[in-house]
Amino acid sequence: MSEQLERLNKLPLRANLRGLSPYGAPQLDVPILLNVNENTHGVPDDVQSAITEAVAKAATGLNRYPDREFTELREALAEYLGHGLGPENLWAANGSNEVLQQILQAFGGPGRKALGFPPTYSMYPLLASGTDTEYVRGVRADDYNLSAESAAGQVRDLAPNIVFLCSPNNPTGTGLGLDVVEAVYEAGEVSQAIVIVDEAYHEFVHDGTPSALTLLPGRERLIVSRTMSKAFALAGARLGYMAAAPEVTDAIRLVRLPYHLSAVTQATALAALHHREALMADVEDIKIQRDRIVAELTRMGLTPAASDSNYVFFGGLEDPHRVWQGLLEAGVLIRDVGIPGHLRVTAGTETETTVFLEALEALLAGQSPLSA
Ligand SMILES: *Cc1c(COP(=O)(O)O)cnc(C)c1O
Repeated sequence: MSEQLERLNKLPLRANLRGLSPYGAPQLDVPILLNVNENTHGVPDDVQSAITEAVAKAATGLNRYPDREFTELREALAEYLGHGLGPENLWAANGSNEVLQQILQAFGGPGRKALGFPPTYSMYPLLASGTDTEYVRGVRADDYNLSAESAAGQVRDLAPNIVFLCSPNNPTGTGLGLDVVEAVYEAGEVSQAIVIVDEAYHEFVHDGTPSALTLLPGRERLIVSRTMSKAFALAGARLGYMAAAPEVTDAIRLVRLPYHLSAVTQATALAALHHREALMADVEDIKIQRDRIVAELTRMGLTPAASDSNYVFFGGLEDPHRVWQGLLEAGVLIRDVGIPGHLRVTAGTETETTVFLEALEALLAGQSPLSA
């Protein structure tokens, strides 16, 4: 045991935090970063200018607390989402991770349980332990699919207080049919489960794929969470949000810290929302690179999962760690999500994607890591 860990273990830490590791995707200094699904196209020039101007204006009033209700931002987010939503349906926080934490603070906690379906977003169990909520691992089919029947059955059996559905799912990239959301919601009636659909990557879905936002009317236990970290290229600004019934946002107000969204954050997010044209053009380009990765990996004999996100999860690797390491040496950082035979790569710019594909193909040719 490391000395540091030994010292930590001597602290009077809450029992359910003992032995846990913090979220720890490596932050390495590598030329091409395709490991945490950021938008690598950068912030377009006009968005940068708009943000700079808006933040300069906000700076003049930083002696005062910000609008605690971030009303203008909730209006802009409602307008962006459409679906007949109003500001009363919107809530935001410092990243969708904070939104999810607030949901757990309000609806989870000691004696309560949250259900997720791994492999899925690695933050769900950490957010659960941070709020002393029991995290229950549901199961998927061998091909990682989750059918409506299976998901609903698990919800009926486990009677969770909260269900996490991630669509498109991280790390697999594959979307869930709305039939799954509907069935889980219905099955959650008995335990009055709050059903969260994490749509962090929704902007990247193939055309015509509906959002769970369409299911909100009449479903007061349903929450759809989104983020500006991916499509909006604002991971560094920390702005996540959710849409739900107004009474759900009122419940979140009971646990949020006062003035949790800084005036700088509000100004930044508003400026990006008002100048989203160039951002959305980059999203279209990323989708092209994503589809290109799927096609190229298939040609190389690998098995990429169907992706509706800005990343591709692929199998067929005999020694994923060797490939990960070889790519790193070639200046490309991708993600080892700990699933045997698999890796995950973010779709970058056209140039970054080319470097990744060429390095990968060379590695595969060099030592034949393909499984038979
Ligand atoms: C990246 C990601 C988020 C976004 O987190 P932020 O806190 O908004 O940056 C949420 N959910 C999933 C599944 C993600 O992959």
